[in-house]
Amino acid sequence: MDVSKVLPFFRLYYKNLNPEDLSIPQLDRREFALWDFLSNNMIRHLAFKNSVELKEGLSKRTPRHVYYSVSTYEYPFLPDMEMKKMISTNLVFDIDIDHVYTPCKEIHDSWLCRNCGNSGSGFTDSCKFCGSPSLDKLSFVCNECLEVAKSEVLKLIEDFLFADFGIKEDEVKIVFSGNRGYHVHVENEEFSNLDSKARNMMIDYIKGITARHYFLDFLKKQKYKFKGIASSGYPSRLAEKILEELLAANEHDLIKIGISEIKVKDLMAIKEKIIQSLQGYSADYGFLRSIGSKSKEIITKAISDISVEIDERVTVDNHRLIRMPNSIHGKTGLRVTPLGYNDLDNFDPFRDSVVFKEGYARIKIKRKLPSIKFFFGDNEFFLGSLNEAKVPIALALYLTLNEYADIYELL
Ligand SMILES: [Zn+2]
Ligand SMILES: [Zn+2]
Repeated sequence: MDVSKVLPFFRLYYKNLNPEDLSIPQLDRREFALWDFLSNNMIRHLAFKNSVELKEGLSKRTPRHVYYSVSTYEYPFLPDMEMKKMISTNLVFDIDIDHVYTPCKEIHDSWLCRNCGNSGSGFTDSCKFCGSPSLDKLSFVCNECLEVAKSEVLKLIEDFLFADFGIKEDEVKIVFSGNRGYHVHVENEEFSNLDSKARNMMIDYIKGITARHYFLDFLKKQKYKFKGIASSGYPSRLAEKILEELLAANEHDLIKIGISEIKVKDLMAIKEKIIQSLQGYSADYGFLRSIGSKSKEIITKAISDISVEIDERVTVDNHRLIRMPNSIHGKTGLRVTPLGYNDLDNFDPFRDSVVFKEGYARIKIKRKLPSIKFFFGDNEFFLGSLNEAKVPIALALYLTLNEYADIYELL
């Protein structure tokens, strides 16, 4: 990448930035880290008194990436983590589309196995031929990917943070990361004081990890009792989800997914009883056992539908650095965009996070782009035909910083 073609845009952005846009709670207690454009190094253990000083620092150094610590410290500028003396750690959740299955990945993602050399398209954690987890992945983030990420954010906030944990609307700050997803920050002192054990329990609950274990054990004839819709929280939502699937399915559908005709007939005979049980305070899931091997699939899908795929490392690691709101993401040129809960519905990351709107550039494609339509800024582009094309500067920067293309002429 020709840094001289992209750096001036970042420089201008930080020069014109309003310091107020950089205000975060307890800024002077945070460690800052900047990724230097030229040396490709992370400069850590920086501290700033306030957002005016931070703005000056950013416009002087013009970093490619800007991060701050989720923890606050007595001495954020000391290089030794112990000596910094941690005060507390904000509760932050990370939803990254890399960890979430989306149907569009079949079209725009591919993988190559480092073990056996086979390759394929779509989303997978291990080679479909030899099972090796050692894969080279090529992934693209399309409009649909970020729509899925957004719905995961809403599920996390509405079902878990608001309904189950009692966190208030004004204590939740959402940040579009500038690339593959969203960060959800909880600004509540009680939650900032949670230790890592409590955070791990939260993650387990949100991802449905123990719920999955219990249900799979139950299918193997373990004796567990589960709660139904009339209870609350996760068990109630799970019962509701299973009821929804059951009501939507007719005999024909059940046979089609592989349940035998006799078992379907038995199930239909007691359908009303099952519905009643699921609606109660304690639910009898015994019917799942009677339908055989398909029950594992049904329960796994229902659990994954109501759970949220968060990256646990971000929530548990108290030395974590996270992207600074209103900085520029150095791999996309998009603004790391802070949002309120009410903004999320109408937010379109590929439209509303675009910063550089003036001008065009001619680009040369150096890595194959997927053959898909891509809405970016205010236009639609066909990614397969962009070589040597004149495109808006924001798209040119997006593809250049992402290593898909090179800008060879600014227009
Ligand atoms: Zn393989
Ligand atoms: Zn996609």
